[in-house]
Amino acid sequence: MEAIQEFLANILPLIRLGAIFLGAYAVLLWAASVLWAYRDIRRRTEDVSVQVLAVGIVLLLPFLGIPLHLILRPPQTLAEKYERTLEEEFLRRDLEEQFVCPECQRPIEPDYLFCPHCHTQLRRRCDACQKVVDLTWRICPYCGHSQTGSAPTVRAEAYAVAPPVEVTQR
Ligand SMILES: [Zn+2]
Ligand SMILES: [Zn+2]
Repeated sequence: MEAIQEFLANILPLIRLGAIFLGAYAVLLWAASVLWAYRDIRRRTEDVSVQVLAVGIVLLLPFLGIPLHLILRPPQTLAEKYERTLEEEFLRRDLEEQFVCPECQRPIEPDYLFCPHCHTQLRRRCDACQKVVDLTWRICPYCGHSQTGSAPTVRAEAYAVAPPVEVTQR
């Protein structure tokens, strides 16, 4: 009986020390999670009320607040959102402005033979194989047939691509 009491007396301080250590670690972890949530929500929204709400949840619900935060937070960071709009904008411009008629500057498809707006000839068909060829080419790239015979007025600039859009920031 005495041996057990002695053993407990010896081990109790160790248990207490362990508990204190674990408690301190939990508090640190909780503080770190609040800090993380604060940084994370600031990268995702500029709305102060949403920021306060997100940090509040993690602060008031230690550990349990983190999964809630992960579910409720805006899915995209502001940087991702910005990049996405930029990409979409470029895609849109590419589609709209890549090919324009050299005469009337209106949009055309790259495989048009004539401008549908002003009827300027943009390209022609090869006499031999009927494939679409550039007005400036001397021979057909598909069959080698000479194209010089009936060359109409040459418009070398017919496929001029719109000047590249200037990128000021990313
Ligand atoms: Zn035109
Ligand atoms: Zn041909």
